Amino acid sequence: MSNKFVGAHCSASGGVFNAVANAVNIGARAFALFTKNQKRWEAKPLDTKTIDKFKTALDESGILPKHVLPHDSYLINLGHPDEQKLIKSRMAFIDELERCDQLGLEKLNFHPGSHLKEISEDECLDKISESINIALDRTKNVSAVIENTAGQGSNLGYKFEQLAQIIDKVEDKSRIGICIDTCHMFVAGYDIRTREAYDKSWKEFEKIVGFKYLMGMHINDSKAPLGSKKDRHHSLGQGEIGLDAFRFIMNDERMDDIPLILETIDNTIWKDEIELLYSFEN
Ligand SMILES: [Zn+2]
Ligand SMILES: [Zn+2]
Repeated sequence: MSNKFVGAHCSASGGVFNAVANAVNIGARAFALFTKNQKRWEAKPLDTKTIDKFKTALDESGILPKHVLPHDSYLINLGHPDEQKLIKSRMAFIDELERCDQLGLEKLNFHPGSHLKEISEDECLDKISESINIALDRTKNVSAVIENTAGQGSNLGYKFEQLAQIIDKVEDKSRIGICIDTCHMFVAGYDIRTREAYDKSWKEFEKIVGFKYLMGMHINDSKAPLGSKKDRHHSLGQGEIGLDAFRFIMNDERMDDIPLILETIDNTIWKDEIELLYSFEN
């Protein structure tokens, strides 16, 4: 049996339990989901019936909680320069962590935050660390998993140094992790297309952040070129990265036992992409 846990970001439309069924249908051994509408602030609390249905479905699927990587709302900015909006984001983030805990899940994936050109990068990174400290202090069980970004606009977290700087000021290091998105790393300037480039980029990751923090990955090809800082996902092998990088990942034991999640643009071929990835294993 493979030590790789590949899946996709599945729709939870109609109820979070549907994401499990959608994952099973595409042959996934891992999946991502939104536990609420990702474009809205408010959400009604999860009721016990929904929670039970989700847990039963997950149990029956054979997919382990550690291989589920929920994603938070796009509205949340944990480094917001405005105090009131920062508080709103922190409250929403705590709610997201609680929802994951209620579902028996262990990780919450989020984008670090944006300075909106109103504060310095350092100030923004400090606010993000502080937000994480507050949220971890008020919740339990679930780890905060920071995603590296493409570096579009004023989004931080595109450099490994920025991720390390956030982690450095997080008090509870047992509940902080990193999710690396291959499209984002590539457009942020970390090449992974050849064996040499792949090894060099990950060596840098190990040196600056450390693989002990790697809790998940987003597996995407990129429409935009290396270093372009444009966040445009593409189907595997159809973009600028090409298939070799994904072949390397599937044979890299540092990516064992963590969710490897497709966020590629054509969900009708996710089943094929999952099969393709598993076919790469030696
Ligand atoms: Zn992603
Ligand atoms: Zn993206």
